[in-house]
Amino acid sequence: MSDCIFCKIIAGEIPSRKVFEDDDVFAFHDINPFARVHFMIIPKLHIASLADAGPEHQALLGKILLLAPKLAYEQGLDSGFKTLVNTGRGGGQEVFHIHVHVFGGGPAA
Ligand code: AMP
Ligand code: ZN
Repeated sequence: MSDCIFCKIIAGEIPSRKVFEDDDVFAFHDINPFARVHFMIIPKLHIASLADAGPEHQALLGKILLLAPKLAYEQGLDSGFKTLVNTGRGGGQEVFHIHVHVFGGGPAA
């Protein structure tokens, strides 16, 4: 999607603080963190929201969820973390490329 900021981050056209990348997923720190550690995990495939995902995305979404504790631990959240997926305007979603927020460690500095 040419006008999607998260697709541009994946492509390296917009800089980000990368946490993790493989063939399927990308993770990077949120530019406006609401916790001391706050990053997002996204699929490289452009899916607008959870409401736009289908059975063909089951493995990809499962992979993202299973990555959350691994990356959270690596980022120092060894006693636990929160996850959040905003869906749709009414759900507070601002960027329409599906993303799982992972955050914790107390309030942002
Ligand atoms: P949401 O409200 O769930 O759609 O969250 C979108 C998140 O993307 C917000 O927490 C923003 O701070 C974050 N965000 C927007 N632009 C960027 C960017 N260029 N780099 C990192 N995070 C961003
Ligand atoms: Zn996108």
